[in-house]
Amino acid sequence: MVSATIDLLKKELPVEEGSLVLSKDVKTGLVLVDVVNGFCSVGAGNLAPVKPDKQISYMVKESARLAKLFCGEKWPVFAFLDSHHPDIPEPPYPPHCIAGTDEARLVPDLQWLENEANATLKCKDCIDGFLGSVEKDGSNVFVDWVKKNQIKAILVVGICTDICVLDFVCSTLSARNRRMLTPLEDVIVYSGACATFDLPVHVAKDINGALAHPQDLMHHIGLYIAKGRGARIVSELSFAAL
Ligand SMILES: [Zn+2]
Repeated sequence: MVSATIDLLKKELPVEEGSLVLSKDVKTGLVLVDVVNGFCSVGAGNLAPVKPDKQISYMVKESARLAKLFCGEKWPVFAFLDSHHPDIPEPPYPPHCIAGTDEARLVPDLQWLENEANATLKCKDCIDGFLGSVEKDGSNVFVDWVKKNQIKAILVVGICTDICVLDFVCSTLSARNRRMLTPLEDVIVYSGACATFDLPVHVAKDINGALAHPQDLMHHIGLYIAKGRGARIVSELSFAAL
Protein backbone atom coordinates (compact mmCIF):
# COMPACT_ATOMS: atom_id res chain seq x y z
CA MET A 1 0.00 0.00 0.00
CA VAL A 2 1.39 3.37 -0.98
CA SER A 3 2.06 5.72 1.87
CA ALA A 4 -0.30 8.36 0.42
CA THR A 5 -3.18 5.93 0.98
CA ILE A 6 -2.04 5.27 4.53
CA ASP A 7 -1.82 9.00 5.16
CA LEU A 8 -5.36 9.43 3.84
CA LEU A 9 -6.68 6.65 6.08
CA LYS A 10 -4.90 8.11 9.08
CA LYS A 11 -6.59 11.41 8.29
CA GLU A 12 -10.00 9.78 8.08
CA LEU A 13 -9.41 7.67 11.22
CA PRO A 14 -7.36 10.01 13.38
CA VAL A 15 -5.96 8.82 16.70
CA GLU A 16 -5.05 11.59 19.04
CA GLU A 17 -2.22 10.47 21.25
CA GLY A 18 -1.54 12.03 24.61
CA SER A 19 1.33 11.99 27.03
CA LEU A 20 1.59 10.24 30.36
CA VAL A 21 3.52 11.19 33.46
CA LEU A 22 4.11 8.15 35.64
CA SER A 23 4.24 8.90 39.33
CA LYS A 24 3.93 7.20 42.67
CA ASP A 25 0.52 8.84 43.13
CA VAL A 26 -1.20 6.46 40.73
CA LYS A 27 -0.36 2.81 41.23
CA THR A 28 0.50 1.69 37.73
CA GLY A 29 1.31 -1.77 36.45
CA LEU A 30 3.16 -2.61 33.25
CA VAL A 31 1.68 -5.29 30.99
CA LEU A 32 3.99 -6.77 28.36
CA VAL A 33 2.19 -8.66 25.64
CA ASP A 34 4.07 -11.45 23.89
CA VAL A 35 7.53 -9.90 23.68
CA VAL A 36 8.80 -13.38 22.82
CA ASN A 37 11.27 -14.60 20.22
CA GLY A 38 8.57 -16.21 18.09
CA PHE A 39 7.13 -12.77 17.28
CA CYS A 40 10.12 -10.49 17.68
CA SER A 41 13.44 -12.14 16.84
CA VAL A 42 14.52 -12.32 13.21
CA GLY A 43 14.14 -15.81 11.77
CA ALA A 44 12.90 -17.32 15.05
CA GLY A 45 9.84 -19.06 13.56
CA ASN A 46 6.78 -18.94 11.33
CA LEU A 47 5.49 -15.67 12.82
CA ALA A 48 8.82 -13.98 13.47
CA PRO A 49 10.12 -11.15 11.29
CA VAL A 50 12.09 -12.48 8.31
CA LYS A 51 14.42 -9.48 8.33
CA PRO A 52 15.26 -6.74 10.84
CA ASP A 53 12.13 -4.66 11.46
CA LYS A 54 12.37 -1.10 12.76
CA GLN A 55 8.96 -0.97 14.44
CA ILE A 56 9.49 -4.31 16.20
CA SER A 57 13.08 -3.52 17.28
CA TYR A 58 11.98 -0.21 18.76
CA MET A 59 9.08 -1.88 20.59
CA VAL A 60 11.48 -4.43 22.12
CA LYS A 61 13.91 -1.70 23.20
CA GLU A 62 11.19 0.43 24.78
CA SER A 63 9.53 -2.56 26.47
CA ALA A 64 12.86 -3.58 28.01
CA ARG A 65 13.55 -0.01 29.14
CA LEU A 66 10.14 0.24 30.81
CA ALA A 67 10.43 -3.16 32.45
CA LYS A 68 13.76 -2.08 33.98
CA LEU A 69 12.28 1.20 35.23
CA PHE A 70 9.20 -0.48 36.72
CA CYS A 71 11.21 -3.21 38.42
CA GLY A 72 13.66 -0.60 39.70
CA GLU A 73 10.76 1.12 41.45
CA LYS A 74 9.19 -2.19 42.50
CA TRP A 75 6.13 -1.37 40.44
CA PRO A 76 4.28 -4.48 39.31
CA VAL A 77 5.05 -6.03 35.93
CA PHE A 78 2.96 -8.66 34.18
CA ALA A 79 4.21 -10.44 31.06
CA PHE A 80 2.17 -12.61 28.72
CA LEU A 81 4.04 -15.27 26.79
CA ASP A 82 2.35 -16.87 23.81
CA SER A 83 2.86 -20.59 24.32
CA HIS A 84 1.18 -23.51 22.56
CA HIS A 85 0.95 -27.25 23.03
CA PRO A 86 2.46 -28.89 19.90
CA ASP A 87 -0.75 -30.84 19.22
CA ILE A 88 -3.17 -27.94 19.57
CA PRO A 89 -3.09 -25.58 16.60
CA GLU A 90 -4.22 -21.97 16.70
CA PRO A 91 -5.98 -21.31 13.41
CA PRO A 92 -5.66 -19.24 11.27
CA TYR A 93 -1.99 -19.10 12.28
CA PRO A 94 0.70 -21.62 11.38
CA PRO A 95 2.44 -23.40 14.29
CA HIS A 96 4.29 -20.89 16.48
CA CYS A 97 5.62 -20.39 20.00
CA ILE A 98 5.50 -24.07 20.92
CA ALA A 99 5.85 -24.47 24.70
CA GLY A 100 9.37 -25.23 25.81
CA THR A 101 11.03 -23.88 22.65
CA ASP A 102 13.04 -20.71 22.29
CA GLU A 103 10.16 -19.15 20.36
CA ALA A 104 8.00 -19.14 23.47
CA ARG A 105 10.69 -17.44 25.57
CA LEU A 106 10.99 -13.73 26.23
CA VAL A 107 13.42 -11.93 23.91
CA PRO A 108 17.03 -11.84 25.15
CA ASP A 109 16.61 -8.22 26.38
CA LEU A 110 13.81 -9.34 28.71
CA GLN A 111 14.90 -12.82 29.81
CA TRP A 112 16.06 -11.42 33.15
CA LEU A 113 12.34 -11.09 34.00
CA GLU A 114 12.21 -14.89 34.34
CA ASN A 115 14.08 -14.51 37.65
CA GLU A 116 12.59 -11.20 38.74
CA ALA A 117 10.42 -11.41 41.85
CA ASN A 118 8.60 -8.25 40.82
CA ALA A 119 7.30 -9.80 37.59
CA THR A 120 4.41 -12.17 37.01
CA LEU A 121 4.82 -14.28 33.87
CA LYS A 122 1.80 -15.95 32.33
CA CYS A 123 1.91 -18.38 29.43
CA LYS A 124 -1.19 -18.15 27.28
CA ASP A 125 -2.40 -20.36 24.45
CA CYS A 126 -4.81 -17.94 22.81
CA ILE A 127 -4.78 -14.45 21.34
CA ASP A 128 -6.59 -12.72 24.18
CA GLY A 129 -4.45 -12.63 27.32
CA PHE A 130 -7.43 -11.87 29.54
CA LEU A 131 -9.04 -15.17 28.53
CA GLY A 132 -5.63 -16.83 28.55
CA SER A 133 -5.34 -15.93 32.23
CA VAL A 134 -8.30 -18.08 33.23
CA GLU A 135 -7.14 -21.08 35.26
CA LYS A 136 -8.82 -24.49 35.51
CA ASP A 137 -10.46 -23.51 38.79
CA GLY A 138 -12.02 -20.43 37.17
CA SER A 139 -9.70 -17.92 38.80
CA ASN A 140 -7.94 -15.35 36.62
CA VAL A 141 -4.21 -14.72 37.09
CA PHE A 142 -4.42 -11.23 35.59
CA VAL A 143 -7.45 -10.18 37.66
CA ASP A 144 -5.73 -11.49 40.80
CA TRP A 145 -2.56 -9.51 39.93
CA VAL A 146 -4.54 -6.27 39.55
CA LYS A 147 -6.35 -6.79 42.84
CA LYS A 148 -3.41 -8.01 44.85
CA ASN A 149 -1.33 -5.01 43.79
CA GLN A 150 -4.26 -2.58 43.97
CA ILE A 151 -3.43 -1.33 40.49
CA LYS A 152 -5.23 1.79 39.30
CA ALA A 153 -3.77 2.03 35.80
CA ILE A 154 -2.12 -0.41 33.44
CA LEU A 155 0.36 0.54 30.76
CA VAL A 156 0.11 -1.94 27.90
CA VAL A 157 2.91 -2.57 25.42
CA GLY A 158 3.97 -5.37 23.09
CA ILE A 159 2.98 -7.16 19.93
CA CYS A 160 0.78 -7.19 17.89
CA THR A 161 -0.91 -3.81 18.27
CA ASP A 162 -3.98 -4.97 16.32
CA ILE A 163 -4.12 -8.58 17.54
CA CYS A 164 -2.95 -9.72 20.99
CA VAL A 165 -2.55 -6.21 22.41
CA LEU A 166 -5.92 -5.10 21.07
CA ASP A 167 -7.89 -8.17 22.16
CA PHE A 168 -6.40 -8.03 25.66
CA VAL A 169 -7.19 -4.32 25.93
CA CYS A 170 -10.78 -4.79 24.75
CA SER A 171 -11.48 -7.65 27.16
CA THR A 172 -9.84 -5.76 30.02
CA LEU A 173 -11.98 -2.70 29.33
CA SER A 174 -15.15 -4.81 29.33
CA ALA A 175 -14.08 -6.50 32.57
CA ARG A 176 -13.26 -3.14 34.13
CA ASN A 177 -16.67 -1.79 33.14
CA ARG A 178 -18.28 -4.82 34.78
CA ARG A 179 -16.35 -3.96 37.99
CA MET A 180 -14.38 -7.19 37.78
CA LEU A 181 -11.05 -5.37 38.05
CA THR A 182 -11.58 -2.91 40.88
CA PRO A 183 -9.62 -0.66 41.57
CA LEU A 184 -8.42 -0.51 37.94
CA GLU A 185 -9.46 2.71 36.23
CA ASP A 186 -7.21 3.40 33.27
CA VAL A 187 -6.07 1.16 30.45
CA ILE A 188 -3.28 2.98 28.67
CA VAL A 189 -1.61 1.84 25.46
CA TYR A 190 1.85 3.24 24.78
CA SER A 191 2.02 3.37 21.00
CA GLY A 192 5.82 3.59 20.72
CA ALA A 193 6.23 0.32 22.58
CA CYS A 194 3.69 -1.52 20.44
CA ALA A 195 4.35 -3.10 17.07
CA THR A 196 2.78 -5.38 14.56
CA PHE A 197 4.07 -7.56 11.72
CA ASP A 198 4.38 -6.58 8.07
CA LEU A 199 2.82 -8.54 5.24
CA PRO A 200 2.37 -6.09 2.38
CA VAL A 201 -0.38 -6.75 -0.15
CA HIS A 202 2.10 -7.43 -2.99
CA VAL A 203 3.71 -10.19 -0.92
CA ALA A 204 0.45 -11.62 0.46
CA LYS A 205 -1.08 -12.07 -3.00
CA ASP A 206 1.50 -14.74 -3.83
CA ILE A 207 0.90 -16.71 -0.63
CA ASN A 208 -2.04 -19.06 -0.75
CA GLY A 209 -4.73 -17.97 1.70
CA ALA A 210 -2.67 -15.15 3.21
CA LEU A 211 -4.39 -12.01 4.41
CA ALA A 212 -2.50 -8.80 3.61
CA HIS A 213 -1.32 -6.96 6.70
CA PRO A 214 0.50 -3.71 5.98
CA GLN A 215 2.39 -2.88 9.18
CA ASP A 216 1.94 0.89 9.57
CA LEU A 217 -1.70 0.79 8.69
CA MET A 218 -2.59 -2.17 10.92
CA HIS A 219 -0.64 -0.67 13.84
CA HIS A 220 -2.67 2.50 13.39
CA ILE A 221 -5.97 0.64 13.13
CA GLY A 222 -5.14 -1.33 16.29
CA LEU A 223 -4.61 1.91 18.18
CA TYR A 224 -7.74 3.42 16.64
CA ILE A 225 -9.96 0.53 17.76
CA ALA A 226 -8.38 0.41 21.23
CA LYS A 227 -9.08 4.10 21.63
CA GLY A 228 -12.64 3.65 20.40
CA ARG A 229 -13.23 1.03 23.10
CA GLY A 230 -12.03 3.36 25.82
CA ALA A 231 -8.27 2.93 26.11
CA ARG A 232 -6.01 5.94 26.46
CA ILE A 233 -3.34 6.08 23.77
CA VAL A 234 -0.10 7.81 24.64
CA SER A 235 2.93 8.47 22.48
CA GLU A 236 5.01 10.15 25.16
CA LEU A 237 6.00 8.87 28.56
CA SER A 238 7.85 10.52 31.35
CA PHE A 239 8.49 9.78 34.99
CA ALA A 240 7.73 12.28 37.72
CA ALA A 241 10.67 12.72 40.07
CA LEU A 242 10.86 9.37 41.82
ZN1 LIG B 1 -0.35 -17.95 19.55
